[in-house]
Amino acid sequence: MAGYDFDYFVIGAGSGGVRSARIAAQHGAKVGIAEEQYLGGTCVNVGCVPKKLLVYAAHYGHDVEDAAGFGWSVPSATHSWRTLIANKNAEIERLNGIYRRLLEGAGATLFEARATLLDPHTLKVDERKVTAERILIATGGRPVLPDEPGAREHGITSEDAFFLPERPRRVIVAGGGYIAVEFAGIFHGLGAEVTQLYRGPMFLRGFDGDVRETLAEEMARSGIDLRFNTIITRIEKSHDCLMVELSDGSVQPADAVLYAIGRRPNTRGLGLDAAGVATDGNGAITVDAGYTTSASHIYAVGDVTDRVQLTPVAIAEGHFLADTLFGPGRDRAVSYADIPTAVFSTPPIGTVGMTEEQARARGPVDVYKSRFKPMKHTLSGRQERSLMKLVVDRASQKVLGAHMVGPDAAEILQGIAIAITAGATKADFDRTIGIHPTAAEEFVTLRTRAPDPEPADLAAE
Ligand code: FAD
Ligand code: NDP
Repeated sequence: MAGYDFDYFVIGAGSGGVRSARIAAQHGAKVGIAEEQYLGGTCVNVGCVPKKLLVYAAHYGHDVEDAAGFGWSVPSATHSWRTLIANKNAEIERLNGIYRRLLEGAGATLFEARATLLDPHTLKVDERKVTAERILIATGGRPVLPDEPGAREHGITSEDAFFLPERPRRVIVAGGGYIAVEFAGIFHGLGAEVTQLYRGPMFLRGFDGDVRETLAEEMARSGIDLRFNTIITRIEKSHDCLMVELSDGSVQPADAVLYAIGRRPNTRGLGLDAAGVATDGNGAITVDAGYTTSASHIYAVGDVTDRVQLTPVAIAEGHFLADTLFGPGRDRAVSYADIPTAVFSTPPIGTVGMTEEQARARGPVDVYKSRFKPMKHTLSGRQERSLMKLVVDRASQKVLGAHMVGPDAAEILQGIAIAITAGATKADFDRTIGIHPTAAEEFVTLRTRAPDPEPADLAAE
């Protein structure tokens, strides 16, 4: 430590950076942390948290509609986007304060400024120079806009969507990943006319095939205009709206065009060359299994490494690193197997483990699935059906994957993920007593194996 201002300097106070700084400081390290924009990073400010609040807002709208079937007389409901955004902003300000107190309480020194690397041990923070023995880069990522004409001038990203002054009447969402399906559901649930475009034949690449098809069916049934194999080719401003030209030759008017086509690591201008830190072709910092970059005292965790872009993963990586460098050692190693994840679409998806397609590629499997009308909708009149699915290794009977589309999928799958992490077999699921009446009990009462697909269907996958 002799000669350095800090034992550990963290660039970026997002999910990974805050956790790592806090734990390192609790282990007794002298810690500095710099944040150029907002405490808590993407998740707290323009990600998971505000997104979930907007999803709740959209679902309240459905609940109001559905209440009539349960006997409620509800006068025609109206929604105020301004109130929603103002209340969301206030909640996030509260969370920003909590993050500040967490860092200061742990004894870390917070710099509310941009940090860049000047050499392997020196950083420029605001106009000051500080030195550190070890450095963590946890600068996250930023949404990208494409190059097609008009996209940069007239398109918005998820970061803008959280601060729109009014809820647009007609929204086009481009993309077929998490953010695109989540925002399509949010805007539609809050009353907008929504068109979602995806460049391929079926969105949510990488998710289980039945899950993708079920969500597409449900979104289309709810009134979202879903168009696959379609992209935007040009956006032009007309006097009172945007005219959006599509690859099928049609032109569609819209009040907002949201691009949700992926995120790029935040490494531009960071001084990585001066510090000897290597990146891949996409600008992501390359790290080894211990999060060490090509410079042996500089580390990187979270979205800036462009591996698994999820908050709990960034947190787990930052925590493990702090324990390894300053604490008890390596007993919190991050397991990348069976990471559960949820898409807060409408209806939501919860998933853990292998998809049927991945499992079949490694050997014979038994598949159990059920599609049913959730009890919540039996009186509401809402024509929405849930999907539950288990993928089981035929030889060992170990449950390799569990997937759900339907209300509360995220909440239900967190518990199922524990069983799968613990190596549960189908027999373990079967001997578990259900909780009745719930949707979750379906996971322990699935008994009928789905027929094996025809060889021709497998070849087509
Ligand atoms: P971030 O949280 O992005 O933090 C990086 C921080 O570094 C930022 O605050 C940035 O301002 C700061 N920074 C960058 N450069 C510098 C610099 N030079 N100097 C100082 N500070 C700097 N994940 C989930 O698990 N569940 C969800 O429901 C979910 N929803 C999402 C919804 C949206 C719309 C988005 C965009 C993401 C969502 N994610 C979700 C992903 C999740 O937000 C990220 O995986 C997570 O925030 C990554 O954490 P991180 O620490 O790597 O980076
Ligand atoms: P994703 O990587 O999930 O999806 C990007 C989508 O955009 C894909 O459908 C991709 O298609 C498509 N695409 C990429 N480039 C283009 C292009 N040039 N033109 C048209 N379409 C394009 O990114 P997101 O932005 O949705 O989210 C970023 C990450 O943030 C997610 O991967 C996830 O890890 C995290 N996140 C997590 C959430 C959660 O946990 N609930 C919620 C939101 C985000 P293709 O598949 O064909 O490549």
